Amino acid sequence: MPDVTIIGAGPAGSVAALLLARGGWDVTFLEQHRFPRDKVCGECLSALGIEVLERIGLAERLRALHPVNLTHAVIHAGDSRYAVAPLPRRMLGLSREVFDQFLLNEARAAGARVLQPARCEGVELTRAGVRLRVRDLARNTIETSEPTHVIVADGKSALPGPAPTLTGDFGIKSHWVGIAGGRDAIELFGCHGCYGGLAPIEGGRWNAAFSVPARRLRAHGGNLDALFAELIAENAGLARRLKGATRASNWLAAPLPRFAVRPAWQAGVVPVGNAAAAIEPIGGEGMGLALRSAELAAHTLIAFDGGATQARRSRLRLDYRALWRVRSAACRVGAKVVSSRTMAAITTELLSSNAQAGVLAMKLMGK
Ligand SMILES: Cc1cc2nc3c(=O)[nH]c(=O)nc-3n(C[C@H](O)[C@H](O)[C@H](O)COP(=O)(O)OP(=O)(O)OC[C@H]3O[C@@H](n4cnc5c(N)ncnc54)[C@H](O)[C@@H]3O)c2cc1C
Repeated sequence: MPDVTIIGAGPAGSVAALLLARGGWDVTFLEQHRFPRDKVCGECLSALGIEVLERIGLAERLRALHPVNLTHAVIHAGDSRYAVAPLPRRMLGLSREVFDQFLLNEARAAGARVLQPARCEGVELTRAGVRLRVRDLARNTIETSEPTHVIVADGKSALPGPAPTLTGDFGIKSHWVGIAGGRDAIELFGCHGCYGGLAPIEGGRWNAAFSVPARRLRAHGGNLDALFAELIAENAGLARRLKGATRASNWLAAPLPRFAVRPAWQAGVVPVGNAAAAIEPIGGEGMGLALRSAELAAHTLIAFDGGATQARRSRLRLDYRALWRVRSAACRVGAKVVSSRTMAAITTELLSSNAQAGVLAMKLMGK
């Protein structure tokens, strides 16, 4: 039976673990945090990800978690102008606490052996293959293993290292209640040099997730309430939407990764999700890409019974590039446009007068 160790139980790692376990592989699956755990994310799952869940038979069970159907996007320029554009395919709003726990449970039920909390602290290339150093965080002990295959799903490409250069941007996120109005849209808000989104999730709650430059975090000494108050003051639409709302969770902040598919992979190691590439979050495509890349990686390994020759790895990397390239460019442009008050105002005018422009922009982002 071929064996694999998968590092990281975000959406990418869990889907890879589930598919390889279903394919009869001996799967060891590591996650450093205890679940359920919260995570910086806009918590909107795109059609790309929904389709993966349908193909692997999880879409029906996901419905029991009451995700919110999202059918259109609203862009709020800094002033009171806004534009509404229908999403070509629906998205789903669901918290990462619930979604990641759900996927991890499914991977475990498929036969993956879950080690949690356990952190991989080293991935070394040896003559025989790959050696992993794993710390059991409950007992504070270290063990080494030499699995035939390793899938890195650490969400940041820090293993085996070096990690990609930091972008200088941070993601911040919290949940809110008491927001009036419809619960069927992702709303994007342009602020001074940054942007963010508001989207409904299960339980009547809302997710507010923003990308902000590190210098603005520092300027407020890490006080995210103060920073958010400043962002609210920069966007009339955001101020209107949050009037009377209450924050219902702690703030989270994390460095925001952004890098193209990495040119070289260590022998015996396959990256999935944000370990392979990281997209600007404005399009809400990160989890979809995580799920789809995990599906592609698992199918590649299973189809070739684990033989990871250079040609097969190169093919997988090309598939990843095809997945990420256009979406990444479109989302980067989208982020620049929404983060500029002038360009955001022009864009809302354009989208209000020309519905096709909105559809085209969404399609380029992968919608
Ligand atoms: C502000 C912001 C908003 C976003 N909004 C959206 C959105 O609306 N929709 C969307 O689809 N995407 C969004 N994203 C992107 C999305 O969060 C990521 O693309 C997605 O989480 C990537 O999934 P993953 O499985 O690759 O990695 P992750 O979800 O990051 O999971 C990695 C896991 O690996 C674990 N791990 C890391 N290192 C180790 C180790 N050494 N040993 C053991 N475990 C380890 C971590 O604890 C974590 O659980 C957003 C991101 C940001 C920053």
